[in-house]
Amino acid sequence: MGVLDAILERIREERAAERLPIVLFDVDSTLVSTKPRNAAIAREFAAVGAHLHPAVERLADCQPDEMGWLVSDALRARGCEDEAVLEALMDFWFTRFFAGDTLVHDVEVPGAVAFARAVHDAGALVYYLTGRDAPNMGAQTVESLGKLGFPLWRGRVVLHLKPTRAIGDRAYKAGAVDDVRSHLGPVVACFENDPGNANLFVEAFPDAIHVWMQTECAPDADAPRPELLRIADFTG
Ligand SMILES: [Mg+2]
Repeated sequence: MGVLDAILERIREERAAERLPIVLFDVDSTLVSTKPRNAAIAREFAAVGAHLHPAVERLADCQPDEMGWLVSDALRARGCEDEAVLEALMDFWFTRFFAGDTLVHDVEVPGAVAFARAVHDAGALVYYLTGRDAPNMGAQTVESLGKLGFPLWRGRVVLHLKPTRAIGDRAYKAGAVDDVRSHLGPVVACFENDPGNANLFVEAFPDAIHVWMQTECAPDADAPRPELLRIADFTG
């Protein structure tokens, strides 16, 4: 049995025992691919930063598939070695990546919508715990998740967003653990692409199945704990 089927089976067992199972999902690079958003931001920069370096306008043909963790790698691949220009792109990326209007580029990680729906249909509480912040990205996140078909606007769904952008990801997710526990049901599974956050959930919810999404993560991320299972998408 694959890990996704094992999680659905555990949900059904908990429901049969009249407990409310909880499945925790990170959003970016876990349920939703950030590649199209990053490619769109790079293409925007091709227009606004063209005067900075000849390679910048070559970003106009940027495609989602070539996006890794750092958007600046796409510019480097087009022949720019000027650190100031690469940094200018990263500064531009930062303001655009965390702006709500770029969320129109959200697409699901393959199989994510069907799996989240299966989790909900099986009787679990779907708990989205995302580092997106409510003031700048809340409304667009709701619109995006709804449009993509993720469970929303009904019982057994929580959308937990950062109250402000200023809180660091790790502190925010650590602080959310008590909110997750407040539902009193067992956390049966956690999905996260950042290994440090995934490690945090291993410690907070030792009886759950922990999945580290093999999408992308920061090159200087924490080492993953051995308990973490690895999948690249939700089609398995
Ligand atoms: Mg993430």
